[in-house]
Amino acid sequence: LVVLADVNKHFGNLHVLRDINLTISRGEVVVVIGPSGGGKSTLCRTINRLETVDSGTITFDGQPLAAEGRALARLRSEVGMVFQSFNLFAHKTILENVTLGPIKVRGLSRTEAERRGMELLERVDIGAQASKYPAQLSGGQQQRVAIARALAMNPKMILFDEPTSALDPEMVQEVLDVMIGLAAEGMTMMVVTHEMGFARRAANRVVFMAEGQIVEENTPEAFFTSARSERAKDFLSKIL
Ligand code: ATP
Ligand code: MG
Repeated sequence: LVVLADVNKHFGNLHVLRDINLTISRGEVVVVIGPSGGGKSTLCRTINRLETVDSGTITFDGQPLAAEGRALARLRSEVGMVFQSFNLFAHKTILENVTLGPIKVRGLSRTEAERRGMELLERVDIGAQASKYPAQLSGGQQQRVAIARALAMNPKMILFDEPTSALDPEMVQEVLDVMIGLAAEGMTMMVVTHEMGFARRAANRVVFMAEGQIVEENTPEAFFTSARSERAKDFLSKIL
């Protein structure tokens, strides 16, 4: 579904993505881990073109990433993104947060968007909060709304950038459970996370990134029990 070939990206003198080659197939769940500043968020952002690349190619669904206009809007609607900081619209209700995109971008009628929005909110167990505002919900609830909002666009893939890092510990699992459910249903996902339980349960592949490079990739079992590189071993010794 996504193919990155020899992708390089600089921020000024900083070489943030170095010769990245990565393929994510339909239905695959890829967990990206690695030290802070390694380029994980930048990698996510290049896939839905929140960042451009300096060299190399990225194709999505067989097409080069759209640069602008309608094609870019379509790409963004096909690649959902869930951030650490939820990024809900503070002045819209929970239901409005999930219906806005489908109405504006997909051209759904309000009635249809609301019907589908409520279905998705029920699915992430937030149905009862539909008319509240984001600030009235817990972090875990807000993040589940953010996932419902991404799903409302019928994406082909969802990128998660540290979706549970800003949550109190007791709320982490409720969000991971929703993500595990999506993975089981075959959603294509790239997930930046240090939640090893999630990686073990839901990931097909773990990609370890440091200093802008993919240092190694493997199945979760193999990666956690017998990482090959010193960098990965050192990283694992600090987080496990
Ligand atoms: P973390 O685990 O802390 O989230 P990360 O692996 O997601 O780290 P990135 O956010 O991709 O890392 O950042 C990679 C490097 O690029 C860092 O050194 C960061 O400071 C730098 N960087 C990221 N975004 C920008 C930007 N817009 N302008 C300049 N430098 C940036
Ligand atoms: Mg990051």
